[in-house]
Amino acid sequence: MRVAEVRRNRPAPSKETVRAALRPVVIEPVSTDLPPETWVQFSRIRQAFLDALPIAAAIISERDGRAAIDECNDRFVALDTYRPTNRPLSITGAAPVAEHLALFFDRYRAASGLPDNMLFEWRDGDDVSGRHFNVTIAPLKPIDGQPPRCLLTLVDRTTEIENARSLRAELLHDSLTGLPNRSAFAEAVDEVVATVDSAVHHAVLLVDLSRFSRINESLGGVAGDEVIITVARRLISTLRAGDLLARVGGDEFGILLRLANGHEDAAAAARRIQSVLSAPFRLARFEVGLECAIGCALIGDESGSGEELVRNAQFALKRAKTTGRVEVHHSGEAACARYKLDLETELRRAIDVGDLRLAYQPIIDLATNRISGFEALSRWAHPTRGNIDPGEFIPVAEEAGLIVPLGRWALDTALSTLARWDALAGGPVPLTMSVNVSAIQLARDDVPGVIAAALATHGIDGARLTIELTESAIVQDPERTTRALQALKGLNVRVAMDDFGTGYSSLSYLRKLPIDNLKIDRSFVSGMLQDRDKVAIVRAVLSLADALGKTTTAEGVETIELSQTLAALGCSHGQGYYYAAPLEADAALAYWQAKLG
Ligand code: C2E
Ligand code: CA
Ligand code: CA
Repeated sequence: MRVAEVRRNRPAPSKETVRAALRPVVIEPVSTDLPPETWVQFSRIRQAFLDALPIAAAIISERDGRAAIDECNDRFVALDTYRPTNRPLSITGAAPVAEHLALFFDRYRAASGLPDNMLFEWRDGDDVSGRHFNVTIAPLKPIDGQPPRCLLTLVDRTTEIENARSLRAELLHDSLTGLPNRSAFAEAVDEVVATVDSAVHHAVLLVDLSRFSRINESLGGVAGDEVIITVARRLISTLRAGDLLARVGGDEFGILLRLANGHEDAAAAARRIQSVLSAPFRLARFEVGLECAIGCALIGDESGSGEELVRNAQFALKRAKTTGRVEVHHSGEAACARYKLDLETELRRAIDVGDLRLAYQPIIDLATNRISGFEALSRWAHPTRGNIDPGEFIPVAEEAGLIVPLGRWALDTALSTLARWDALAGGPVPLTMSVNVSAIQLARDDVPGVIAAALATHGIDGARLTIELTESAIVQDPERTTRALQALKGLNVRVAMDDFGTGYSSLSYLRKLPIDNLKIDRSFVSGMLQDRDKVAIVRAVLSLADALGKTTTAEGVETIELSQTLAALGCSHGQGYYYAAPLEADAALAYWQAKLG
């Protein structure tokens, strides 16, 4: 039984006893012309009035410099804090109320008219088990020759406050593990930040369970819950005095760490966590392994709010998910994230208002030294920031889902340029157009459908279009990519594997998928002449392409020597600054025409 219940269940002093003790004082007129019987009448009427009130109420007057109860109702008696001690009755066990009454009577005497009502909150007992009241002291008109009087009323708000408190407790706890949740965790971090003392440091660690959603999906929510509870238990076992564990997300835990020995403690905690989570989890018939990613933010002199610190740890966690290492947040990251967010907003606008352009870089057939086509590359001339590199805005577009409209725009614009060249030349020019398609666009958009429509709109034969895809498209969703590539084959569209050699390509996919061309990544080509390893890689790619019947394009050809060497090695195409940098549409056409002549 809770303390509050004990208190409430204690038998109250009998009302008769209390009332008998309270009564006598009231009816004695101090000085009045009225006969005592009239006072008795008055007193009865007042009593009836007070008894009719739905809240605890008493008429209090000041006698001999103390607040004394003249009349009170049953509800007031039931409060049991007000107990008669001596005569005239004083209010005991309610020091704040007595103090307010004393203050009130001082004002009463000083005021020319009646003083204002006095309102305050009063807690009777301790924070957990006590009762809460809204108290009002309202002046009553003085009666000639009588001391100042007031009406004291108390509204019991205990239930309301307790409900709010338990609701809050519920809101601050995760019901599955009973651990504090994200809000409670941020509050706890806030508290530490507020009282940060340079001698003791703290860190926020976030632990994310990789592959947890797979367990949920394959074994069901109950198994998932079981894993979460086990993880919570194991994590608790790694805690030291002063540490706090919370469940901050579905498969994410937060630990507020006290660093007694500086930053090394955070690293040690991370190792303990990895070690307890590395043991397999037994679920009915299965044994599953879990891996975790850990991000850390240190609480130091310039820490922000609790929420901000948790967010910082999340930046680090995000990085940890790709690097596989424990990552610690660095102060520039938040600014970087904000910049990205700005860029996202501005990019959305740029796509809408047409601030993006395409530049066209020639691709040379090394056997004939003629231009076989152009690669369309996006350009963003930002009104205030200047030219922004695609290496910067393409990843932002991919993250924000803007790559779908951007990719559609690039396809449409590139084909419309090719159609315009045809029109200017008075017939189809013998050029292909290569357009980059992001793996994310391939996964989200109906790329073959979009391409079919664009080809039809601009009257371009599919064979004149090449799609450049990176290996990540195959890795992410091999089936979907296979279907998309087969659909492209149906349109006669060619496919090039971009940045070849930098990603992870399974040879079997390379053989199975309808890929026509391998673009050897610039990192292998540039500096190749000075580096035997690079030459070996380029040779290997060339012979692989040869064996699989695919053409090759070397990226980043910056010198004549490279161009000649690549041609000698059997590379079919080259692209790079040695031939030309990416050009405006008109300049690109002029470049091609000049080369013809
Ligand atoms: P990428 O597809 O590998 O494009 C080749 C990049 O190498 C281009 O950079 C090009 O300007 C640059 N380059 C060409 N020749 C040379 C050279 O000789 N030396 C050096 N150092 N660099 C050379 P850019 O235009 O900055 O594009 C970077 C990347 O952005 C592209 O790499 C591509 O992955 C992506 N990208 C550009 N436009 C688009 C687009 O419209 N859609 C998609 N999805 N990605 C795009
Ligand atoms: Ca490309
Ligand atoms: Ca490339």
